[in-house]
Amino acid sequence: MSINSGMNKVKVRFAPSPTGPLHIGGARSALFNYLFARNQQGTLVLRIEDTDLERSSLESEREIVESLSWLGISWDEGIDVGGSNGPYRQTERLDTYHRYVDQLLRSGHAYHCFCTEEELAEERQVMLYKGQIVAYSGKCRHLTPEEREEKLSQGLLPTVRFRVPAGDNLVVNDLVRGAVSFDSSEIGDFIIVKSDGIPTYNFAVVIDDHDMKITHVIRAEEHLSNTPRQLLIYRALGFKTPEFAHISLILGSDRQKMSKRHGATSVMQYRQAGYLPEAVFNFLALLGWSPEGEQEILDQDEIIKQFSLQRVAKNPAVFDLEKLNWLNAQYIKRKPLKHLGEMLKPYLQTSPFWPRVEHLDEAVYEVLIEAIRDRLVCLGDVVREIEPFFADPRYDADTISQLEQPEVREMLRLFTERLPERFDLDQARIFMKGLPKALQLPAKRVYMPIRLSLTGNPHGPELPYLFVVMGIPEIRRRISALI
Ligand code: GLU
Repeated sequence: MSINSGMNKVKVRFAPSPTGPLHIGGARSALFNYLFARNQQGTLVLRIEDTDLERSSLESEREIVESLSWLGISWDEGIDVGGSNGPYRQTERLDTYHRYVDQLLRSGHAYHCFCTEEELAEERQVMLYKGQIVAYSGKCRHLTPEEREEKLSQGLLPTVRFRVPAGDNLVVNDLVRGAVSFDSSEIGDFIIVKSDGIPTYNFAVVIDDHDMKITHVIRAEEHLSNTPRQLLIYRALGFKTPEFAHISLILGSDRQKMSKRHGATSVMQYRQAGYLPEAVFNFLALLGWSPEGEQEILDQDEIIKQFSLQRVAKNPAVFDLEKLNWLNAQYIKRKPLKHLGEMLKPYLQTSPFWPRVEHLDEAVYEVLIEAIRDRLVCLGDVVREIEPFFADPRYDADTISQLEQPEVREMLRLFTERLPERFDLDQARIFMKGLPKALQLPAKRVYMPIRLSLTGNPHGPELPYLFVVMGIPEIRRRISALI
């Protein structure tokens, strides 16, 4: 039964900064929020944190939305869908932030700071040199109203800093990591509004999470160190703090933080390579969360049913590409042939053999897909896997000397004589099975030479598949060319 009812309804958010594609880590955060919301019959908000004006773009926002939708993650409130706590882009919420900034300035929790970049850089240098913790010195903390007016009248644009009380023990009661303490003395007065009037992340996030009535903040571990700053703002504004759950880093197989070095990092790259959304969804869910039973192939409904923050691991998750590949292959195997055939077409269109594939009978096309289905790790592998069916055979010296033997040539000739006008897969199987007997030869002296003569390769698709896809005229053509 849900632990929620009425007033305590769970509300979570995914709050990406649209500064690039959606990475695996971001997708995992989005997914855990989604799973928690759905498990608790709560609400998921999609909010765009675009206060970094230089790096944010609408194009990235589009890509993030598309990646989430592709994965099968839907939201109940936020950009694209609307809701009663909008707007859902931070740059459209500036008035709201300014109202709260005024409140903090009035109550003395914040103050204007006129220090220039150069002054601050110099201050930092000195602190580094002295081996001190690098934090703002507090130079503008005690400006009198007159001094402030004077600087403003000179046209100087101030930032707004939050006044951090010294000697405070700030405790984040994290649902994943337990109680984590921070000493406020190590946090300098931090900027909440930049000199261009744009709020910083730590400030805007608190206002939004409060105004959007977020009950649980589930996000990446890298934000844990921001949380004490956010707690201070919650307290100064008299807001109730939400629950926090910081989920672990994702490491590459070498146990280093996942990065481009480890291969594809964005969701779209996996999509393009031909990973199925269900497989990526399943895989991401297992990056830091584990189901109770042994079963690892779980569909969306099952994962939602089982998901809980209690089973989210504290230690880092390792991105295991082999496992993703395995899962993907499993999901491909489970697709109905017709559907899989359609999914493969965009990849096949990049094959030099597409003009031939395109003109196959529908039934023959399905035989082709059935023949290769179990060999696909990704949809993109189809291009490689169809080659033996269409490429002209190339024979090496060894193969030629085998095929040149008179009894082999005779067998091949008899084989072509016995070929019917056409056959389907079942008929091809029966034909093949009966062939050694009909030719009065042991099986190994029939099947291997036929395979070699058709493809030049001792390995490859099962012969009945090859026959049906290649078609009888082509089989005849290849063998007579050889003889
Ligand atoms: N915009 C932040 C990010 O993309 C979100 C942090 C948070 O969830 O509070 O990392």
